[in-house]
Amino acid sequence: MGLELNPSKTRITHTLKEYEGQKPGFDFLGFTIRQYPVGKYHTGKDGSGMPLGFKTIIKPSPKKIKLHAENVRSIIRTNKTASQHKLISQLNPVIRGWTKYYSTVVSKEIFTGLNHLTYKKLRAWAKRRHSKKNASWIVNRYWLVDQGEGWEFANKGRGKQKFLRLIKHAETPIIRHIKVEDRRSPYDGELVYWSTRMGRHPEVPKNVATLLKRQKGKCAHCGLTFKDGDLKEKDHIIPRYRGGIYRHQNLQLLHRHCHDKKTAQDAVGNKRTKTKSRSPKPKSGQ
Ligand SMILES: [Zn+2]
Repeated sequence: MGLELNPSKTRITHTLKEYEGQKPGFDFLGFTIRQYPVGKYHTGKDGSGMPLGFKTIIKPSPKKIKLHAENVRSIIRTNKTASQHKLISQLNPVIRGWTKYYSTVVSKEIFTGLNHLTYKKLRAWAKRRHSKKNASWIVNRYWLVDQGEGWEFANKGRGKQKFLRLIKHAETPIIRHIKVEDRRSPYDGELVYWSTRMGRHPEVPKNVATLLKRQKGKCAHCGLTFKDGDLKEKDHIIPRYRGGIYRHQNLQLLHRHCHDKKTAQDAVGNKRTKTKSRSPKPKSGQ
């Protein structure tokens, strides 16, 4: 595809087993990608349905989890004496944004862990403000208990402030994306790409592949690169009725719709040299 790897940003690594003290897998854009050995009921399968004995799992990277936990902690710390309303309104967008980013991967356990961690920090935050009150007084002051969703850290609309509750990490639903079918070799799909590159392909007629290579994969009429599934047609550069030859040099590959356009243009040029038009008249009536 004409892309090059940047050697300083590239490394080869094991993804399943630890090797020479190096942990398997790699981090990319805040995700950790690695494989885990699993039994026959959970294993991934290869292209022909054979079990692989492992499964690829993507999770938030430990580095990013730590960073986020530190961020939550620091917001709570800087709001030691601020109102509960202010604290919640600062935490909510941070939690919402972070959990949304990781909501398409295996994050449920991590979200639950962060729930617990946040709760512990908030409990310390509340205790510190009321050193003379007992635990149940403090809970009643800052939490809604038994509302069906477990404890909710919520401002109960005290004073002029509106009701506001803290978002929990684990309430963000995990929506796994559906994997697109792999493209593994020149023999399944990418006909245009491989024919253009090699000038041949087992599923593409020889002369079509040769033309693709000669035209660098582009339509000779519109200049756009052919995509798989595009309807392509062979065209005589000089039309046959004007003495164009059958030979390869006189052939080019066009989109079907581009071919129609060119044929029409050729015909216009042809009309000028003929006395009568052969094109049928449009039907009259209705
Ligand atoms: Zn075209």
